[in-house]
Amino acid sequence: MMRRCVALSAEAVRAHELPFACVICKDGEVVVETTNRVSRDADVTRHAEIIAISEAQRVLGRRDLSDCTLYSNVEPCPMCSFPIRETRIGRVVYSISSPMMGGFSKWDVLSDREISDVMPQVFGRAPDISAGLMYRDAAAVWRSWNPLFWFGIRLRGCLAESNNDAMAALQTRPERKNPLKRLAALLLQLLPGKRAEPAPVAARQPQAKVAG
Ligand SMILES: [Zn+2]
Repeated sequence: MMRRCVALSAEAVRAHELPFACVICKDGEVVVETTNRVSRDADVTRHAEIIAISEAQRVLGRRDLSDCTLYSNVEPCPMCSFPIRETRIGRVVYSISSPMMGGFSKWDVLSDREISDVMPQVFGRAPDISAGLMYRDAAAVWRSWNPLFWFGIRLRGCLAESNNDAMAALQTRPERKNPLKRLAALLLQLLPGKRAEPAPVAARQPQAKVAG
């Protein structure tokens, strides 16, 4: 699956995108595979993982993706990590670590236990995480796309080898416990309508900023 994901990241380059790609699979079968579409759609939110999660829900006809694994050639960012937690994706595998923008190694969304302890109706447990798979192949795509960019972005520490660093961070991260929040979460689970579909939200116009 990661081999497929890395090949897709090369396809992204051919489509004039940055080399990002994502594959979501279930029971060893690909459910959906995507590239970054930020340039094509002129939309900074069109990350490969966001598109893949959205499509996987549509293909499977459900929001719960707990039996799925998400493969990404680069560590998912925080924006993509929240829907990973909300759809309860069971496992996340990535190749290149993202120490400046990562939803695991920097912003701790993927492995945060508090959000699922306090809001179990919304967020699933932290997924299993594997980092650094096929790093050399994934890095080779970035290097061949733009050697100078790859050199510079690594020099600034934005992208890095993953290997065991991320796993070590996961193992040493302390579990934060708040007994009152845990109790409130348990009481909420007893209420009827657990994980009810959210009420539709009316489209809102962005509010203009009032000049001070
Ligand atoms: Zn992202």
